[in-house]
Amino acid sequence: MTGKLFSKRLIKAAVVSLALLSQGVPFAAEGQTNRLPKAGFQRFSGNLPPSNSGAGIGSITGTGLSTPGVHLTSGMDRTPRNAREPYNPGEPTLNMALVRWQREKMPLRIWISPGLQLPQIPFEQLPSTRVETVFQMLQQENPFSDLSQADGWSESVNQSVAMGIEQWRQFENEGLLRFGFTSDPRSAHVLVFFTDQFQGAAGPGGTNVGALTCAQLFTPQQTQMEMYRQKPVIMEFSTRVNHLPEKMQGSAAHEFGHALGIKAHSPYRDDIMYENNVVYNLSEGDKATIRLLYRAEPKYVM
Ligand SMILES: [Zn+2]
Repeated sequence: MTGKLFSKRLIKAAVVSLALLSQGVPFAAEGQTNRLPKAGFQRFSGNLPPSNSGAGIGSITGTGLSTPGVHLTSGMDRTPRNAREPYNPGEPTLNMALVRWQREKMPLRIWISPGLQLPQIPFEQLPSTRVETVFQMLQQENPFSDLSQADGWSESVNQSVAMGIEQWRQFENEGLLRFGFTSDPRSAHVLVFFTDQFQGAAGPGGTNVGALTCAQLFTPQQTQMEMYRQKPVIMEFSTRVNHLPEKMQGSAAHEFGHALGIKAHSPYRDDIMYENNVVYNLSEGDKATIRLLYRAEPKYVM
């Protein structure tokens, strides 16, 4: 194994499956969750048209792995002049619409599994299925009893993940968001799993996928409807790509940024939300961005 093989993290784009609902279309109703329309997903195709939420009966937009409109460059460097400027955190495939948690969901509860690995399926299929798969598992008596632990996982890995997530704690003081960790996956808003390697996700040039975050988005109006069910955000980390504690920590900080709603990547290499993050800590630009997001009205929520 050369260091180079794992030196690059390919995208873990804020992958989203958006279930758009129109009147009379059952979605996630009791016993009818299988009728939730399947989300679309096109790899390397981030320029899908925005969803036509007005007319779309069960129309779905999935995001691609790449968001070419956002980071065509190989990464810019911040300058003293723009060091504290936010980037646009919006969802690239939805006209950069803003996405975040609603305040009434706070504090968000995070469950970090003991190294559990979800069923392996081709990477391309994850964004359109993961949230629903885990949601269904959670309805069972022993939700994750069939899962095994990912190779390369140890308890210290979870400490690294938690430390990465903790980087966002500072915004509690500003009243922007609140979160905590739970031992009960059923009550969690964000669930963390692991894999030794994402299936079929090794790219050319020795790149590999380090992590992935999947979420379903809803309009605020949809969350008011009787048949709305809270769906968890699913984060998965490769133990192989993030084999060093600092890498896992940086990866967790990056993915939790996605989980909080920073959907686009930063164009700046200095930021944790740079696509292929090379720093392990939040920058002033990241901080400005989460402030911007949580002070704005979102178009979609989780
Ligand atoms: Zn990312």
